[in-house]
Amino acid sequence: MARGIRRPHESVDYAALVRDYPPPPEYFESAWYDDPDTIEHKQLLRLKERAQQAYRVPFFRRNWDAAGFHPSQIETLEDLWKAPFYTVDDLRKSIEAHPPLGDYQGVTPDQACSEPMRVYMSGGTTGKSRPTLYTQWDREVGGILGARGMYLHGVRPGDTIINAWAYSTHNGAFNFDESLYRWLNCLVLTTGSGNVTSSRRQIELAREYGASAILTTGDYLLHLAEVAREMGIDPREDLAIRAVPNVGDRERIEEVFGVPHYASYGFHEVQWAAIECPARQGLHIFEDAFVMHVVDPETGERLPDGELGSLCVTELYKTGSPQFRYNIMDLSYLMPRGQCECGSWLRRMGPFAGRGDNMVKLRGVNLWPEALGEIATAHPKATEDYFVRARRSGNRDEMIISVVSQAPESEYETMRVELEAMLKERLGLRIQAEVVAPGAIDDWTEIHTAPKPKRFRDERDA
Ligand SMILES: [Zn+2]
Repeated sequence: MARGIRRPHESVDYAALVRDYPPPPEYFESAWYDDPDTIEHKQLLRLKERAQQAYRVPFFRRNWDAAGFHPSQIETLEDLWKAPFYTVDDLRKSIEAHPPLGDYQGVTPDQACSEPMRVYMSGGTTGKSRPTLYTQWDREVGGILGARGMYLHGVRPGDTIINAWAYSTHNGAFNFDESLYRWLNCLVLTTGSGNVTSSRRQIELAREYGASAILTTGDYLLHLAEVAREMGIDPREDLAIRAVPNVGDRERIEEVFGVPHYASYGFHEVQWAAIECPARQGLHIFEDAFVMHVVDPETGERLPDGELGSLCVTELYKTGSPQFRYNIMDLSYLMPRGQCECGSWLRRMGPFAGRGDNMVKLRGVNLWPEALGEIATAHPKATEDYFVRARRSGNRDEMIISVVSQAPESEYETMRVELEAMLKERLGLRIQAEVVAPGAIDDWTEIHTAPKPKRFRDERDA
């Protein structure tokens, strides 16, 4: 350690890192096929250690003391249910009381000389974003998890990849970058978003360098395919795209690029957590790095396997800011442990199915905007794109869904009537519908900029 400075490469035991968290392709020849006992044994060891570390962080100590929970109570994986969960509201309160970082971080910036660290923020455009401090170890494990995901998507070591995510205060672009450069030896073209490098230039670069993936939202990827066609370039024939790690309209992405699309799940505070395999029967959780619970979004009560509820996430890999039973309010469900067609015993979860905190009680019935979306977008003339608003009309709550269609405007009225009938039949409630042209709701959904498009706004307090 020179003059008290521990450099990033000195702060991580790299031999231990790759042994504990194998990167691809080795991962898919080893831990991916661990048997259930090995998986759960590893989880329990890491869980006990994480609980002790989290207890040293003021935020967790306060909440756990108040709930009568102590890390020594964890003797089995089942005991994790004894720890209280927290939500984003608890993190916000912590930030308000201890600005700007809150008291939930496991490291502090004054340690940066001996513990190299980076800070990233959720969202990034509003003042309410949540900062997370990552140590070098946390960055590296996050990079390995991302590399595993992209390898399964079809990215191969040595590929050239265009990273068209915005390099900003948000973790996303950097996590992809580190996954590709540090763990897949890819040549990364850091084009940034369309605001930094024009769409035409992105396509030119993809062609000149033979890029095998363009990382961005699924929507912008499809837009780039349109731009390519305008330039006389066939996205299937003239580009070398062979992986589409882009969240978006699976059918259209596969059709346009002729490459299989796989789902994945992750979020700002924990990075990549689960990934769909070619068997496409759920997303395998990276169980060497996570334990996932599913709880009732309203009550926080445990839900049985198969039932849709809010994900409550515990990471097992970090050394910086813990996430220990973080009720993230993303809806999904867990499948019972069983061997997948691909051979892996890693537990699987359903795909991201919307936000638990968007639930609306309408005349006594619990409704999720995503459920409305699923019904409405099944209309043959609807696209995948929609937006739901809850409004107050007189003393009644109302919901209105805007559905995007490519149909001519003369058909909107017929479609509206059909959509309202479909919703009424499936939900037993009257939901208003309106049909809009492509692009009309982009400002609401933020589909061009957000990794997970927004589908709901509550206008009842407005
Ligand atoms: Zn599988």
